[in-house]
Amino acid sequence: EEAVRNDELVYKFDSRKHEAQWEISLLTQLDRAIDNGEVWVAYQPKLDLTSNRVSGAEALVRWTHPERGPISPDKFIRIAEEFHRIERITRFVINDAVRTAVELRRQGFDMTISVNISAQLLRNPGLPDMIAEILAIYGLPAEMLILEITETDRLDRSSRTFQMLQKLVQSGIRLSIDDFGTGNATIDYLRYVPAAEVKIDKVFIQAMEGNKEDLLLVQSIIEMAHSQDRTVVAEGVETQAALEILRAMQCDAIQGYYVSRPVPFRDLLTQIVGREAR
Ligand code: C2E
Ligand code: CA
Ligand code: CA
Ligand code: CA
Repeated sequence: EEAVRNDELVYKFDSRKHEAQWEISLLTQLDRAIDNGEVWVAYQPKLDLTSNRVSGAEALVRWTHPERGPISPDKFIRIAEEFHRIERITRFVINDAVRTAVELRRQGFDMTISVNISAQLLRNPGLPDMIAEILAIYGLPAEMLILEITETDRLDRSSRTFQMLQKLVQSGIRLSIDDFGTGNATIDYLRYVPAAEVKIDKVFIQAMEGNKEDLLLVQSIIEMAHSQDRTVVAEGVETQAALEILRAMQCDAIQGYYVSRPVPFRDLLTQIVGREAR
């Protein structure tokens, strides 16, 4: 019996060691992966519930590993944050997103483009210049770019993060509070972040269909955001029923598998054209 337990321990230890080794190998492969096209950007349309049109798209990074297949961004973004690769990935994503927005405009679609920004990067003083440079290269007006930020740490007016957010907004870029309600600093963010948009996290959206409390919570978030002149986007909408509930609650826009999964740019274009034609 003792021997069995030892085996289990050894096994557990091995798998943890294995996990750590796997993370390190991911990290060492990440730089190369960006250079050789394994890392790419998918786009998920945002459907405006008033006009029934695609009003924007969110850039979501993808890594298709030649042997392992798709690796979740939740996984490699965390590793990238830990090992100082997040700036490089974000530059890559913003570059692709801005290029995409310009191409959409060229084809007559006036759409915003949203990019996820790690909290860590908001402490990097080089961020506004990096973004300004990319916008200038492609000639995209700053108003077309939305930065989705996640509440993590507490925030106040004297913090560096707050000053960074001010600076970004002054340059014309719009901010969105992502994963709203799941972080540690919801009230701080409502008080201090000059965000034009709030995104309700999919956990609330997916729970609201079967749960009165969650439904009321979603309604309250929408009303509160509207009273502060912010628009509201619901993420994770998977059903017609959820769409109808959100429409009745005056939610401004939705994202989710019901509209479309995140897709490569050419498929995004097909979708937009298809919807316009209807
Ligand atoms: P997020 O920003 O909250 O993005 C929403 C996630 O929900 C995405 O997962 C999206 O594919 C997924 N999703 C969209 N609609 C539905 C739906 O109807 N049902 C369900 N079940 N899921 C849906 P994804 O692409 O795996 O990204 C996970 C997270 O990784 C993102 O969460 C974001 O925090 C992070 N991430 C992705 N791309 C980037 C990036 O370029 N930079 C940074 N810093 N983080 C990124
Ligand atoms: Ca997001
Ligand atoms: Ca989310
Ligand atoms: Ca997130």
